[in-house]
Amino acid sequence: MNEDSARRNHGASAGAIQPCGALLILDAEGGRLLQVSANLEAIIGVSAETALAEGLPAVLGRELARRLRRELQGQQRLPGALSIKRKVEGKLCSLQLDARRSGERLLVEIEPLIRTGNRRLLATVNRWLSRFAEAGHPEDLLEALVAGVADLTGHDRVLVCAFDVQGHGAVVAQQCAPGVPSMGGMHFPASDFPPHMRGLYDRVALRSVPDVKAAAVPLVPCHDPHSGQPAGLECTLLRVISPEQRRYLEAMEVSSLLSLAMHGDAGLWGLVLCHGMSPHPISPAVRDAALSLVRMATQRLFLLRARSEARFLQSVQDSRELLGNNLPAPGVLLEHHAEEWLALFQAQGLALMMPALESSVGQVPELPSLRQLVECLEGSHRHPGPWSTQALGEEPLTADLDLGEACGLLAVAFPVGQEQRGWLLLFRPEQRTLYSWAGRLGSDAKAAAPEALPLLGHLFSQWQEEISGQSAAWERVERLAVMDLAEDLAVMASAEEIQRLYASLRQEKQALTRANRRLEQLAHHDPLTQVWNRYRIEQAMDVELSAAERYGRPLALLMFDIDHFKQVNDTYGHELGDRVLSALARQVENALRGSDLLGRWGGEEFIVLATSSELEAGLGLAERLRQAIAAMEVPGLPGRVTASIGVAAWRPGDTRKSLLARADAAMYRGKQGGRNQVEVEVGCEGRSLGE
Ligand code: GH3
Ligand code: MG
Ligand code: MG
Repeated sequence: MNEDSARRNHGASAGAIQPCGALLILDAEGGRLLQVSANLEAIIGVSAETALAEGLPAVLGRELARRLRRELQGQQRLPGALSIKRKVEGKLCSLQLDARRSGERLLVEIEPLIRTGNRRLLATVNRWLSRFAEAGHPEDLLEALVAGVADLTGHDRVLVCAFDVQGHGAVVAQQCAPGVPSMGGMHFPASDFPPHMRGLYDRVALRSVPDVKAAAVPLVPCHDPHSGQPAGLECTLLRVISPEQRRYLEAMEVSSLLSLAMHGDAGLWGLVLCHGMSPHPISPAVRDAALSLVRMATQRLFLLRARSEARFLQSVQDSRELLGNNLPAPGVLLEHHAEEWLALFQAQGLALMMPALESSVGQVPELPSLRQLVECLEGSHRHPGPWSTQALGEEPLTADLDLGEACGLLAVAFPVGQEQRGWLLLFRPEQRTLYSWAGRLGSDAKAAAPEALPLLGHLFSQWQEEISGQSAAWERVERLAVMDLAEDLAVMASAEEIQRLYASLRQEKQALTRANRRLEQLAHHDPLTQVWNRYRIEQAMDVELSAAERYGRPLALLMFDIDHFKQVNDTYGHELGDRVLSALARQVENALRGSDLLGRWGGEEFIVLATSSELEAGLGLAERLRQAIAAMEVPGLPGRVTASIGVAAWRPGDTRKSLLARADAAMYRGKQGGRNQVEVEVGCEGRSLGE
């Protein structure tokens, strides 16, 4: 086949391979050779015709053919590639043989092993692995990775292209040979890596195109003789590149490509892209060694990232209050730690929105907007995880709110009491980033206003675009950490709630005690003079009477009435009369002993119960009171007032009524006798102590 017809074959890529190796296609059992690549003779020294006529043993030898079948039984791939030697065009050549299943077919790849000079592959790999182990940061590691791969493969430019959530690629590390244009910091639109292409890396972790311009080699026959379909070549390294990808690479002025997958837990994390500015044949052994380097580096990368996540979580942990017995209120926690949290989460503002507390630090939206925001979140976000966005203005939930400068939000709810929730809100401002994009012009919607930069190949477009309206992304670890904070806040909020309930309970109890005391005061005291009222002094009389009855405890009762009080009222007015009554109550109280009980009987009449007192002591007390009253001065009253006092002592069989009656009678006699005097009850005559 001449070069022209080979070139025409580019279009029929399904039926062609790259010329760097040869391909054999067998049925599933490995018994029948169905298709071979047209370059078989050039690679292994057996013509396609011979191979198809005589079968696999004619190509590999009986022994090797048998081994291949045996090792592939029930397997998807050979456990390891095999090295063989063959004489091709009179020269002894080393070849690598690998085989894998593709659907109902077995694909056998045969590639010449290219001499790598005196280079000792294993030593080189080991040297770089120890460099990786020394790298303490992901950036250092990726720098070591591109240097290691470039060292190993000899490519002119080696990039690490990391994918973001939208599938756009960013060059995060680069090693360039002198004079080779840099692609550092460049971005590739997601459309440059269609899902189909990314999916292929899950099946074969590397892609090798030693010569982008090399003419494709067709398969003979070009269709599968059984199915009549083109062969499925997706999982062989030898498959040709699509015309589209070829144009893409040519436009980038890349003549040779080796790309190696970096797989994380969540699938394809990125690619190591090796570019040659001229065709760059690469030995399968070197290619596999490069893949080992990439795999080891990727493992370490995720270890370092896990470590830095753990460090971040630890620093958030450290910023948490030690939750001992003395729980601070959420507001206090915020006061102590808000600044630290802002720094840790690279946020511009923080708000704590609780039913009983609305507090914020840094730059946050206005309070009414914050309330609306919380209302929206309350209404739609019920699960316990955090809610986050990089673009509040683009979220259906928040687009209608006026949230000012805030662009990114990380929000988490926590329970407050039994039914309510509080929210911790972290805000980030818009982050405007100027991205350098590379890729086909118009291949992505984001390329609306491309600005071609004549840096790389003139056919290959680059443009710069400012990405706006978004904040920096919230990392997974930040979402985890904010949940820790919410947990603390929940504990503190519930402790505070309990304290609040307890305090209000205490307040209610105090109010009740006060009310009871007030009621008691109203029920038992005379409002004008503040001494016991008639009801209360009657109660006291009953208690004392029964004590006298039971234990024979003595009791004297004094009854007194102010003399000519009507005149006081008539002369100086009722108001002054009232003041005289109050003053008299104070005066009498001061003259009493601690065990004496005073009550207002009604009008200007009072009763004193002299407990544990015989009649004698009662008379003495009555005289003291009489004198105290007579000595009393009341502001506004020119003269003095006097009182007449009747005294009676308990006698066995006495009732309240009988005792009172005797005291009243004595008092009456005092009045009769000229007033301002003490009179003793009947039956104890001659003991009057009056003047
Ligand atoms: P005496 O007892 O010496 O026989 O003469 P009195 O003027 O005090 O006579 P009486 O007991 O009949 O009059 C009592 C007066 O006390 C009648 C009433 O105006 C007055 N009084 C009763 N309660 C109050 C009161 O709460 N405030 C005032 N200002 N006066 C009262
Ligand atoms: Mg009276
Ligand atoms: Mg009177």
